[in-house]
Amino acid sequence: MSTDAPDDGGLFAAHDESLTPDERAREEGRRAVDAAILRMARAAGTPVRQRPIFADSTLTTADTEPLAGIGFALLLADSARQRVDRYIKRAREDGAGWREIGKALRLQQAAGERDGDLGAEAFEYAAGPPAQRLDRMWFGWKCPSCLGTITDYGPCGGHPDDCEHGHAGNCQRRAAAVTAYQAQWADEE
Ligand SMILES: [Zn+2]
Repeated sequence: MSTDAPDDGGLFAAHDESLTPDERAREEGRRAVDAAILRMARAAGTPVRQRPIFADSTLTTADTEPLAGIGFALLLADSARQRVDRYIKRAREDGAGWREIGKALRLQQAAGERDGDLGAEAFEYAAGPPAQRLDRMWFGWKCPSCLGTITDYGPCGGHPDDCEHGHAGNCQRRAAAVTAYQAQWADEE
């Protein structure tokens, strides 16, 4: 049985050819956020009232109290950021590298500005600041091959065992990474 969230069917912007795919997704997201805020207000028992779309408009739309709306919007932003983390975790579990993740995170510009590499930029985004200033940064995920809980130290470029801790001794994914690492050194010799 699937536990997927129900899809509410109709899309608003899916067939608007004047918009790019990104713009269509953004428009759909904006509408979903508006709908979510109303649902949150109802759940919290906060009044939902009709208000004019613009100051002098006769058209009205349902909306929550502005001060409550600030809080609901922040909760949504927090949920969205948690989603980003969850997708990064799944991407690493699926075998995506930090560079690819950096591209998905649209960090090319930030990486360029800091003269840094995209993989490192993505890893810093995911890991967040360490608890103590001098602690080593890490990002956690679960290895689908050995089911080990992995402490990922980012794109360190060294031996796989230095970059990822937590694989089982007989993990096939680790073995493949070590083989690739050794082949790379063999090529350079
Ligand atoms: Zn493993």
